[in-house]
Amino acid sequence: MTLTSLTIAEARKGLTEKQFSARELTDAHVRAMEALNPRLNALITPTPEAAMAAAEAADRKLANGGGGPLTGIPLAIKDLFCTAGVRTTAGSKILGNFVPPYESTVTENLLRDGAVFLGKANLDEFAMGSSNMTSAYGPVENPWKRAGGSNAVLVPGGSSGGSAAAVAAQFAMGSTGTDTGGSIRQPAAFCGIVGLKPTYGRCSRWGIVAFASSLDQAGPFARTVRDCALMLGSMAGFDPKDSTSVDVPVPDYVAACGRGVKGLRIGVPREYRADGMSAEIERLWEQGLAWLRDGGAEIVDVSLPHTKYGLATYYIVAPAEASSNLARYDGVRFGVREEGEDLIELYERTRAAGFGAEVQRRILIGTYVLSAGYYDAYYLRAQKVRRLILEDFRQAFQQVDALLTPTTPTAAFAQGEKMDDPVAMYLNDIFTVPASMAGVPAMSVPAGLDAQGLPLGLQVIGRHFDEETVLAVGQALEDAAGFTALPSVRAGAV
Ligand code: GLN
Repeated sequence: MTLTSLTIAEARKGLTEKQFSARELTDAHVRAMEALNPRLNALITPTPEAAMAAAEAADRKLANGGGGPLTGIPLAIKDLFCTAGVRTTAGSKILGNFVPPYESTVTENLLRDGAVFLGKANLDEFAMGSSNMTSAYGPVENPWKRAGGSNAVLVPGGSSGGSAAAVAAQFAMGSTGTDTGGSIRQPAAFCGIVGLKPTYGRCSRWGIVAFASSLDQAGPFARTVRDCALMLGSMAGFDPKDSTSVDVPVPDYVAACGRGVKGLRIGVPREYRADGMSAEIERLWEQGLAWLRDGGAEIVDVSLPHTKYGLATYYIVAPAEASSNLARYDGVRFGVREEGEDLIELYERTRAAGFGAEVQRRILIGTYVLSAGYYDAYYLRAQKVRRLILEDFRQAFQQVDALLTPTTPTAAFAQGEKMDDPVAMYLNDIFTVPASMAGVPAMSVPAGLDAQGLPLGLQVIGRHFDEETVLAVGQALEDAAGFTALPSVRAGAV
């Protein structure tokens, strides 16, 4: 067993038992990162020196019997989290020179608990996308390959594609992501790892570059459910600096993983049987339900009747909020500036040069649906439908404790596919968006491989602030699935 293939839980044990030092652990990951990142492009800004210094500080703490739950654990940080003194680009040219003077609350929490940061992970520009193809810093390669020697380069999913690829390729033990409509769950599914989007308000949004403020939520990626639980325990918590952060205690998420599913009622939303769902996704879903039934859960059919409006409302609400949030990038206060004859020209040139095509499309859609005359027809109506989607979940959770669905309608696709059809790209989010609209927690767990040898994920959705049940169900799936397949591009394998 090499250091890069350990889980976080195993690494913690090894560190406290002095089987290896934090320095050795980080050094192994830094070397793997240096070997793999030029190919995968998972990190925009690697910070190997800072990582080694942090590892040495971790060793000093460990030597004194101190340290927190993540002391010496090397993580990648999505480049949407502001990190003090470390460039934070949001995947955009417009923030190419932005070095925040402050630390986001979530990364501050991870640092407090001893984590070592390897660098800033690539993402779709301003977290808009499902493929990582919209990053101004180039696409990320998925470490998985189709079986049979195919050399098609696959996408890692998005928007947190770099975070997922770094963990799948085993050069980070875990990473942070953000999920607005699926950006943690979909890349986790595409890369064969675990990704958890907590309840809206569970992790502070303070210091995270905003995309759609009523939907954005930070969460962890790791290779096991327990490792995600451990990271969430560190990331979560009330933050007075975020007015939507909720003041509820942070429970012991790791303990929750061991609860089992005996006696739980698991709902199967019939509306998720989308037309044209592939037979293998259907089979995987049935298999997942069978595993939970074997573990003692009761499977119940439920209805979420407004699911069919999820995607349409999301693609009104999210661009509307984005168009407002992105108004601040005007070349005046921070970020890149293109000079102009007058102020208006400076704005126009800066925004034309600084934003990529997808971001411009979202700003246009968002501005349109918020404009006088269309506001009632689109934005207001979308908000009303959003409430109905939330009510669907409330109703369902009166009958069941959690829901099980597929995470994505397909496995990872090749770079370049779906690029000429934004709607085909948006369809990736069909199973993830409803939980985002309702603000409920949801997790993707790798559950099997498709006919091409690519990972597929199952999604567990829970009640507001009931990440514990989501984790318990996720752990049961992980135990039953015994998913041990590994991507061909990973530390020690190339
Ligand atoms: N793929 C979705 C979008 O493009 C979700 C992105 C996200 O969750 N940040 O908006």
